[in-house]
Amino acid sequence: SIEDSVNKNISLEDIFISVKTSRHYQASRLPVILKTWFQLAKEQTWFFTDVDNPLHQNQTNGHMINTHCPSYHQPKHLCCKTSIEYDHFLDSGKKWFCHFDDDNYVNIPRLVTVLQRYDHRLDWYLGRQSVNRPVYVNYQKKKILYFRFGTGGAGYCISRSLALKMSPIASGGRFMSVCEGIRMPDDVAIGFVIEQLLKVNITEVPEFHSHLEQMKLLPLNKLRDQISFGFFWKKNYKDTVNAVNVPGFSARYDPTRFLSLHCFLFPYFQFCKLIRR
Ligand code: UDP
Ligand code: MN
Repeated sequence: SIEDSVNKNISLEDIFISVKTSRHYQASRLPVILKTWFQLAKEQTWFFTDVDNPLHQNQTNGHMINTHCPSYHQPKHLCCKTSIEYDHFLDSGKKWFCHFDDDNYVNIPRLVTVLQRYDHRLDWYLGRQSVNRPVYVNYQKKKILYFRFGTGGAGYCISRSLALKMSPIASGGRFMSVCEGIRMPDDVAIGFVIEQLLKVNITEVPEFHSHLEQMKLLPLNKLRDQISFGFFWKKNYKDTVNAVNVPGFSARYDPTRFLSLHCFLFPYFQFCKLIRR
Protein backbone atom coordinates (compact mmCIF):
# COMPACT_ATOMS: atom_id res chain seq x y z
CA SER A 1 0.00 0.00 0.00
CA ILE A 2 0.95 3.68 -0.20
CA GLU A 3 1.21 3.85 3.61
CA ASP A 4 3.79 1.06 3.63
CA SER A 5 5.97 2.67 1.02
CA VAL A 6 5.87 5.98 2.89
CA ASN A 7 6.95 4.35 6.12
CA LYS A 8 9.76 2.45 4.47
CA ASN A 9 11.26 5.88 3.91
CA ILE A 10 11.93 6.19 7.64
CA SER A 11 15.65 5.91 8.15
CA LEU A 12 18.13 6.44 10.94
CA GLU A 13 18.30 10.16 10.05
CA ASP A 14 14.66 10.52 11.13
CA ILE A 15 15.28 9.31 14.68
CA PHE A 16 16.42 11.35 17.67
CA ILE A 17 18.07 8.96 20.12
CA SER A 18 18.55 10.34 23.62
CA VAL A 19 20.51 8.64 26.37
CA LYS A 20 20.17 9.68 29.98
CA THR A 21 23.48 9.52 31.81
CA SER A 22 25.28 11.20 34.69
CA ARG A 23 28.67 12.01 36.17
CA HIS A 24 28.37 8.84 38.26
CA TYR A 25 28.50 6.60 35.19
CA GLN A 26 31.06 8.41 33.02
CA ALA A 27 33.67 5.76 33.68
CA SER A 28 31.56 2.63 34.09
CA ARG A 29 28.77 2.90 31.51
CA LEU A 30 29.61 5.48 28.85
CA PRO A 31 32.79 3.97 27.38
CA VAL A 32 31.04 0.73 26.39
CA ILE A 33 28.31 2.63 24.57
CA LEU A 34 30.81 4.89 22.81
CA LYS A 35 32.78 1.88 21.64
CA THR A 36 29.78 -0.08 20.36
CA TRP A 37 26.33 1.01 19.23
CA PHE A 38 27.01 4.75 19.31
CA GLN A 39 29.39 4.17 16.40
CA LEU A 40 26.39 3.14 14.28
CA ALA A 41 24.35 6.26 15.10
CA LYS A 42 26.85 9.03 15.82
CA GLU A 43 24.81 11.79 14.24
CA GLN A 44 21.49 10.75 15.77
CA THR A 45 22.47 9.96 19.36
CA TRP A 46 22.69 12.62 22.08
CA PHE A 47 23.73 12.13 25.69
CA PHE A 48 22.09 14.09 28.49
CA THR A 49 24.38 14.37 31.46
CA ASP A 50 25.16 16.69 34.37
CA VAL A 51 28.85 17.37 33.89
CA ASP A 52 31.28 18.83 31.35
CA ASN A 53 33.83 16.31 30.11
CA PRO A 54 36.07 17.45 27.23
CA LEU A 55 37.15 13.87 26.45
CA HIS A 56 33.58 12.65 25.98
CA GLN A 57 32.63 15.84 24.19
CA ASN A 58 35.43 15.09 21.76
CA GLN A 59 34.58 11.40 21.40
CA THR A 60 30.96 12.21 20.56
CA ASN A 61 31.67 15.18 18.31
CA GLY A 62 29.86 17.50 20.71
CA HIS A 63 26.89 15.25 21.41
CA MET A 64 27.14 15.43 25.22
CA ILE A 65 24.65 17.90 26.65
CA ASN A 66 25.19 19.18 30.16
CA THR A 67 21.64 19.60 31.44
CA HIS A 68 22.88 21.21 34.66
CA CYS A 69 20.27 19.07 36.37
CA PRO A 70 21.17 17.63 39.77
CA SER A 71 22.97 14.33 39.24
CA TYR A 72 21.11 11.92 41.53
CA HIS A 73 18.59 9.12 41.12
CA GLN A 74 15.69 11.10 42.52
CA PRO A 75 12.52 11.33 40.43
CA LYS A 76 12.85 15.11 40.36
CA HIS A 77 16.39 14.98 39.00
CA LEU A 78 15.61 12.35 36.39
CA CYS A 79 12.56 14.34 35.30
CA CYS A 80 14.76 17.38 34.88
CA LYS A 81 16.92 15.48 32.36
CA THR A 82 13.97 13.90 30.55
CA SER A 83 12.39 17.32 30.21
CA ILE A 84 15.51 18.59 28.46
CA GLU A 85 15.76 15.45 26.28
CA TYR A 86 12.21 16.06 25.11
CA ASP A 87 12.82 19.76 24.39
CA HIS A 88 15.89 18.91 22.33
CA PHE A 89 13.84 16.41 20.34
CA LEU A 90 11.23 19.07 19.55
CA ASP A 91 13.98 21.40 18.34
CA SER A 92 15.60 18.66 16.25
CA GLY A 93 12.66 18.41 13.86
CA LYS A 94 13.12 14.61 13.70
CA LYS A 95 10.22 12.19 13.24
CA TRP A 96 10.81 9.91 16.24
CA PHE A 97 11.94 10.51 19.81
CA CYS A 98 13.58 7.42 21.29
CA HIS A 99 14.83 7.47 24.86
CA PHE A 100 17.24 4.97 26.42
CA ASP A 101 19.22 4.69 29.65
CA ASP A 102 23.00 4.41 29.80
CA ASP A 103 22.74 0.74 30.85
CA ASN A 104 21.04 -0.13 27.57
CA TYR A 105 22.58 -1.61 24.45
CA VAL A 106 20.63 -0.38 21.42
CA ASN A 107 20.50 -2.51 18.27
CA ILE A 108 20.40 0.38 15.82
CA PRO A 109 19.38 -1.36 12.57
CA ARG A 110 16.58 -3.15 14.38
CA LEU A 111 15.30 0.09 15.93
CA VAL A 112 15.00 1.51 12.42
CA THR A 113 13.16 -1.50 10.95
CA VAL A 114 10.69 -1.69 13.82
CA LEU A 115 9.86 2.02 13.53
CA GLN A 116 9.15 1.49 9.84
CA ARG A 117 6.03 -0.41 10.92
CA TYR A 118 4.52 2.79 12.34
CA ASP A 119 3.58 6.17 10.91
CA HIS A 120 5.22 9.12 12.67
CA ARG A 121 2.34 11.34 11.51
CA LEU A 122 0.00 9.38 13.80
CA ASP A 123 0.18 9.18 17.61
CA TRP A 124 2.45 6.37 18.75
CA TYR A 125 3.86 5.61 22.19
CA LEU A 126 5.96 2.48 21.80
CA GLY A 127 7.60 0.70 24.69
CA ARG A 128 7.62 -2.13 27.17
CA GLN A 129 5.24 -2.04 30.10
CA SER A 130 7.17 -2.49 33.30
CA VAL A 131 4.22 -4.01 35.08
CA ASN A 132 1.30 -5.90 33.65
CA ARG A 133 -1.13 -4.01 35.81
CA PRO A 134 -1.55 -0.24 35.49
CA VAL A 135 0.08 1.98 38.11
CA TYR A 136 -2.00 4.37 40.15
CA VAL A 137 -1.13 7.85 41.34
CA ASN A 138 -2.69 10.45 43.53
CA TYR A 139 -3.46 13.45 41.41
CA GLN A 140 -4.62 16.81 42.65
CA LYS A 141 -5.01 15.56 46.22
CA LYS A 142 -7.91 13.16 45.95
CA LYS A 143 -8.26 11.65 42.51
CA ILE A 144 -6.63 8.26 42.04
CA LEU A 145 -5.78 7.53 38.43
CA TYR A 146 -4.75 4.29 36.74
CA PHE A 147 -2.64 4.17 33.62
CA ARG A 148 0.15 2.26 31.93
CA PHE A 149 3.66 3.41 31.08
CA GLY A 150 6.72 2.21 29.19
CA THR A 151 9.64 1.54 31.45
CA GLY A 152 12.42 4.04 30.78
CA GLY A 153 15.12 1.45 31.37
CA ALA A 154 13.94 -0.55 28.36
CA GLY A 155 13.63 2.46 26.10
CA TYR A 156 10.55 3.96 24.49
CA CYS A 157 9.77 5.85 21.30
CA ILE A 158 7.26 8.63 20.70
CA SER A 159 6.14 9.76 17.25
CA ARG A 160 6.49 13.42 16.34
CA SER A 161 2.73 13.79 16.04
CA LEU A 162 2.25 12.64 19.63
CA ALA A 163 5.24 14.61 20.92
CA LEU A 164 3.70 17.78 19.49
CA LYS A 165 0.42 17.05 21.26
CA MET A 166 2.37 16.72 24.51
CA SER A 167 3.93 20.12 23.97
CA PRO A 168 1.39 22.35 25.81
CA ILE A 169 1.74 20.06 28.84
CA ALA A 170 5.40 19.13 28.69
CA SER A 171 7.57 21.50 26.65
CA GLY A 172 9.84 24.27 27.92
CA GLY A 173 10.42 22.54 31.24
CA ARG A 174 6.72 22.08 32.01
CA PHE A 175 7.31 18.32 32.19
CA MET A 176 9.05 18.88 35.52
CA SER A 177 5.84 20.29 37.00
CA VAL A 178 3.97 17.19 35.81
CA CYS A 179 6.47 14.98 37.62
CA GLU A 180 6.18 17.02 40.76
CA GLY A 181 2.39 17.01 40.52
CA ILE A 182 2.19 13.22 40.58
CA ARG A 183 5.43 12.63 42.55
CA MET A 184 6.54 9.92 40.17
CA PRO A 185 9.71 9.16 38.16
CA ASP A 186 10.13 10.43 34.62
CA ASP A 187 8.97 7.31 32.77
CA VAL A 188 5.80 7.10 34.84
CA ALA A 189 5.18 10.80 34.22
CA ILE A 190 5.60 10.31 30.46
CA GLY A 191 2.97 7.55 30.65
CA PHE A 192 0.75 9.84 32.70
CA VAL A 193 0.90 12.63 30.13
CA ILE A 194 0.26 10.30 27.18
CA GLU A 195 -2.21 7.78 28.57
CA GLN A 196 -4.04 9.84 31.16
CA LEU A 197 -3.99 13.39 29.84
CA LEU A 198 -3.88 12.75 26.08
CA LYS A 199 -5.75 9.42 26.14
CA VAL A 200 -3.31 7.68 23.82
CA ASN A 201 -2.51 4.08 24.74
CA ILE A 202 0.94 2.59 24.85
CA THR A 203 1.66 0.04 22.14
CA GLU A 204 3.61 -2.82 23.64
CA VAL A 205 6.73 -3.52 21.58
CA PRO A 206 8.30 -6.66 23.04
CA GLU A 207 11.67 -5.98 21.37
CA PHE A 208 12.48 -3.41 24.08
CA HIS A 209 14.22 -4.93 27.11
CA SER A 210 15.49 -3.75 30.48
CA HIS A 211 17.33 -5.38 33.35
CA LEU A 212 13.97 -5.85 35.03
CA GLU A 213 13.79 -8.99 32.87
CA GLN A 214 16.20 -11.91 33.01
CA MET A 215 18.49 -11.03 30.12
CA LYS A 216 19.98 -14.54 29.92
CA LEU A 217 16.58 -15.92 28.88
CA LEU A 218 16.88 -14.26 25.46
CA PRO A 219 17.93 -17.02 23.04
CA LEU A 220 21.01 -16.43 20.93
CA ASN A 221 19.13 -16.83 17.67
CA LYS A 222 16.69 -14.08 18.72
CA LEU A 223 19.22 -11.43 19.77
CA ARG A 224 19.35 -9.83 16.33
CA ASP A 225 15.59 -9.18 16.45
CA GLN A 226 15.65 -7.20 19.70
CA ILE A 227 15.84 -3.41 19.90
CA SER A 228 17.36 -2.93 23.34
CA PHE A 229 19.06 -4.90 26.10
CA GLY A 230 19.75 -4.18 29.75
CA PHE A 231 22.45 -4.89 32.24
CA PHE A 232 22.51 -4.96 36.00
CA TRP A 233 25.41 -5.62 38.30
CA LYS A 234 25.89 -4.96 41.97
CA LYS A 235 29.38 -4.85 43.36
CA ASN A 236 30.18 -7.84 45.57
CA TYR A 237 26.90 -9.60 44.85
CA LYS A 238 27.89 -12.22 42.34
CA ASP A 239 24.43 -13.67 41.84
CA THR A 240 22.78 -10.34 41.11
CA VAL A 241 24.46 -10.07 37.71
CA ASN A 242 21.83 -9.79 35.00
CA ALA A 243 23.29 -9.78 31.51
CA VAL A 244 22.72 -11.13 28.02
CA ASN A 245 24.06 -14.62 27.50
CA VAL A 246 26.30 -14.33 24.45
CA PRO A 247 29.69 -15.83 23.64
CA GLY A 248 32.67 -13.55 23.09
CA PHE A 249 34.97 -11.81 25.53
CA SER A 250 35.58 -13.06 29.08
CA ALA A 251 33.07 -12.07 31.75
CA ARG A 252 35.87 -10.23 33.49
CA TYR A 253 36.78 -8.08 30.48
CA ASP A 254 33.16 -7.65 29.41
CA PRO A 255 30.87 -7.87 32.46
CA THR A 256 27.99 -6.06 30.73
CA ARG A 257 28.29 -8.51 27.75
CA PHE A 258 27.64 -5.47 25.53
CA LEU A 259 31.05 -5.74 23.80
CA SER A 260 30.39 -9.40 23.05
CA LEU A 261 26.83 -8.71 21.95
CA HIS A 262 28.08 -5.99 19.63
CA CYS A 263 30.60 -8.38 18.07
CA PHE A 264 27.92 -11.04 17.75
CA LEU A 265 25.76 -8.58 15.80
CA PHE A 266 28.52 -6.68 13.96
CA PRO A 267 31.60 -8.93 13.79
CA TYR A 268 33.38 -6.64 11.34
CA PHE A 269 34.22 -4.13 14.09
CA GLN A 270 37.97 -3.84 14.61
CA PHE A 271 37.96 -4.61 18.36
CA CYS A 272 36.12 -7.88 17.73
CA LYS A 273 39.34 -9.36 16.36
CA LEU A 274 40.54 -9.52 19.98
CA ILE A 275 38.02 -12.24 20.83
CA ARG A 276 39.90 -15.52 21.34
CA ARG A 277 38.31 -18.24 19.27
N1 UDP B 1 20.91 8.23 36.65
C1 UDP B 1 21.28 9.55 36.86
N2 UDP B 1 21.77 9.91 38.08
C2 UDP B 1 21.93 9.01 39.09
C3 UDP B 1 21.56 7.67 38.86
C4 UDP B 1 21.04 7.32 37.64
O1 UDP B 1 21.16 10.36 35.96
O2 UDP B 1 22.38 9.39 40.18
C5 UDP B 1 20.43 7.82 35.34
C6 UDP B 1 21.30 6.73 34.76
O3 UDP B 1 22.37 7.28 34.04
C7 UDP B 1 20.34 5.91 33.93
C8 UDP B 1 19.00 6.13 34.61
O4 UDP B 1 19.14 7.28 35.45
O5 UDP B 1 20.28 6.37 32.60
C9 UDP B 1 18.59 4.95 35.46
O6 UDP B 1 19.57 4.71 36.43
P1 UDP B 1 20.02 3.26 36.88
O7 UDP B 1 20.15 2.37 35.69
O8 UDP B 1 21.27 3.40 37.70
O9 UDP B 1 18.89 2.77 37.87
P2 UDP B 1 17.51 2.01 37.62
O10 UDP B 1 16.50 3.11 37.47
O11 UDP B 1 17.64 1.16 36.41
O12 UDP B 1 17.32 1.22 38.86
MN1 MN C 1 19.12 0.69 35.05
